[in-house]
Amino acid sequence: MAERMMDALVKKEAGKGLVLQKMPVPQPGPGEVLIKIRKTAICGTDVHIYNWDPWAQIHLKPPMIVGHEYVGEIAELGAGVTGLSVGQRVSGEGHITCGHCRNCHNGNIQWCKDTVGVGVDRDGAFAEYLCIPASNVIIIDEDLPEDVVAFFDAFGNATHTALMWDLVGEDVLITGAGPIGIIAGGICKYAGARRVVITDINDYRLDLARKMGVDAAVNTSREDLKQVMKDLRIVEGFDVGLEMSGNGAAFDQMTSLMRNGGKISLLGLGNKPLNIDMNNIICKGLTLQGIYGRKMDNWHEMSYMVQGGLDITPVITHRFHYTRFEEGFAAMNSGKSGKVILDWTEKK
Ligand code: NAD
Ligand code: ZN
Repeated sequence: MAERMMDALVKKEAGKGLVLQKMPVPQPGPGEVLIKIRKTAICGTDVHIYNWDPWAQIHLKPPMIVGHEYVGEIAELGAGVTGLSVGQRVSGEGHITCGHCRNCHNGNIQWCKDTVGVGVDRDGAFAEYLCIPASNVIIIDEDLPEDVVAFFDAFGNATHTALMWDLVGEDVLITGAGPIGIIAGGICKYAGARRVVITDINDYRLDLARKMGVDAAVNTSREDLKQVMKDLRIVEGFDVGLEMSGNGAAFDQMTSLMRNGGKISLLGLGNKPLNIDMNNIICKGLTLQGIYGRKMDNWHEMSYMVQGGLDITPVITHRFHYTRFEEGFAAMNSGKSGKVILDWTEKK
């Protein structure tokens, strides 16, 4: 029988760009699930891959299909898969874990020592079909908006980072108003923070954060954050910090403005070694928590927050058919974007 073919966005060889080409539809092996993709979203990681920057050059082994933020429906079940059925609406955890290490056993699969990344280490979701292990499949309720579920992966990073600490009545500083920082702003307000202040050096993105309902969106290249704190009556400093820029100056500013005993979660990955002022961390007794990926339970929390009224649609700025992916990546590279959605529901 002739192999079934599908459209896919492929990093064909070492170098810039992606190619839209035909690839074989993957076959679900035992314990695997074939997903028909409906919508995908472009992540910052995909932009690194598209641009073929030093990170991508180290981590990617072309040729491969990229992408890891998606929503779709189950098209086929591999042998032995139970508890799932064809036609179910799903997304999936993009980190495929070993299931045998200490962290897999204690439920912290986000810290698995042998993680394999969908769309980074193995074929990804920017295609008509994706194959993943059944244990990575997340069932998605029909009432959740498809365009939002398309980027639950990134929403999960924001959820993991923000919900690391108690937020009720707390004053929160988020450094970096990229898509994840903006979503985190919405989560913090939803979760009961008193004041949520977000910083960036990009006015377009700060505007998006305002639409998400933060109390102040501050361009630190020209505005005085201390004055903003005074205006908001944040007296002793921020209780909680979410570092989402990967920028050392932003992190130092954060530690200098935390209250004694404050808590910081660190998501942002910089590409340069940081020159950090340890005095603030030590003398203020700050708690720092590195955040990697998402916890499986975050997937449930995300669905419940959206069903409970959290609206993160302000972060969506562009929608394209997948054949117009170049425009999507151009929007991401321009800095004038939040989440960019690619639609795979119609074949052209
Ligand atoms: P992004 O690159 O789109 O956003 C980062 C933002 O930080 C940008 O808007 C940038 O203008 C801003 N910024 C730069 N310098 C700044 C400064 N001095 N002060 C304040 N803001 C500044 O990234 P994203 O997709 O929103 O992701 C956020 C961060 O999290 C990135 O660093 C990304 O690499 C990282 N990330 C980590 C994980 C993980 O598992 N740890 C997962 C996903 C993303
Ligand atoms: Zn493991």
